[in-house]
Amino acid sequence: MPPIALTNATYIDRACSSMRTGTILVSDKPKGGIEFVGQTPGGADVIDCAGRIVTPSFAIAHHHIYSALARGMPAPPRPPENFLEILQLIWWRLDKALDIDMVRACAQAVAIDALRSGVTFIIDHHASPNCAEGSLHAIAEVLDGAGLGHLLCYELSDRDGPDRRDAGLRETGAYLESHQGLVGLHASFTVSTALLTAAVEMAREFGTGLHIHVAEDEIDQEFCQDNHNCRVVERLHAAGVLEPTETVLAHCIHLDDDERAIIADSAAWVSQQSESNQNNAVGALDAGAFPDRTMIGTDGMHSDALGAARAAFLMAQREEGGMSPRAAYDRLRAVHEYLASNGFEGDAGNNLVILDYNPPTPITAENWPAHLMYGVSRAHVESVIAGGRLALDRGRCTLIDEESALANCREQAARLWEKL
Ligand SMILES: [Zn+2]
Repeated sequence: MPPIALTNATYIDRACSSMRTGTILVSDKPKGGIEFVGQTPGGADVIDCAGRIVTPSFAIAHHHIYSALARGMPAPPRPPENFLEILQLIWWRLDKALDIDMVRACAQAVAIDALRSGVTFIIDHHASPNCAEGSLHAIAEVLDGAGLGHLLCYELSDRDGPDRRDAGLRETGAYLESHQGLVGLHASFTVSTALLTAAVEMAREFGTGLHIHVAEDEIDQEFCQDNHNCRVVERLHAAGVLEPTETVLAHCIHLDDDERAIIADSAAWVSQQSESNQNNAVGALDAGAFPDRTMIGTDGMHSDALGAARAAFLMAQREEGGMSPRAAYDRLRAVHEYLASNGFEGDAGNNLVILDYNPPTPITAENWPAHLMYGVSRAHVESVIAGGRLALDRGRCTLIDEESALANCREQAARLWEKL
């Protein structure tokens, strides 16, 4: 395939340090970037941006692709009264009902939603206890096909008994033999000491990190105190979870200052999902101790990283001092640093979004974060280039057949809901 040339592009770099208009040649190499060229090279596929903004596309630090078919599903047998019941009555019923065709449909739904949101990389946390085998492979295949980069893991847990736990371990091991990924754990309160040890050993064996929910609700702490006589972060720290620079700790809401200090002194990264936290009424993250290693996730609610960053930005205004648009922007972009510093592939400079955004006020590189927090939304995403290939062309996915994929999603969703 010929390389893409973007003419009349107004490019704002990821650091928001410069804004420049001209012709950009996009490398189609796996680790390729972009360069400004004086003339449009012959043989290139030319896209006339007509002055539109071109900027690096977005990435999601914590997603649950498996929940993509939940939108509009039947209500649980009774309304959940607390966080544990939200898991028991909704998510742990849903994940057990998934089969491999549904998992594949979930990945199709998220791939389309992500590209339409200007997202080209997803860090996912997957659970399908009755079809663990092959599940990560199936998700990877769909995301690869749509042009998306990914860092997947299987959510290991003891909550469904030893057979399902072992199936999750087998899938994780088999997947990491041939793919970049993480070793997933559900959360401290559903993970035994034996499983925690096995997961950390597996991460060491494959030279990667762990991905786990941490103190999303107070129940995680209560269970840890009752069963392990320590706080959640102390337990994970003692087991070695926080040692790898690849480790992602999702939520980290109900922590004390000592636990925040442990994370701040560790190599681990934190992901924030403020919309999900509001949906589950579990509280809010205080990232003050580790601002540079906090990233933005969507927790399965949607695939719009920019929207999730805006939610975190607005949530932060409740606190003294609030958060500047620039700080929110840096948090949105922290995931790229996480991926690059750990050598993960699929998020190079040739991942771009073209925005049809025509604001009533001037744009500069400096005020671009404020435009993103107050003006730009996924509705402005016109086209997306993923790994140097055109993956979304004026709102339509090019590498995946949207019509048939979405028809399949609705069919699989109906099957899933029927099972529920
Ligand atoms: Zn989550």
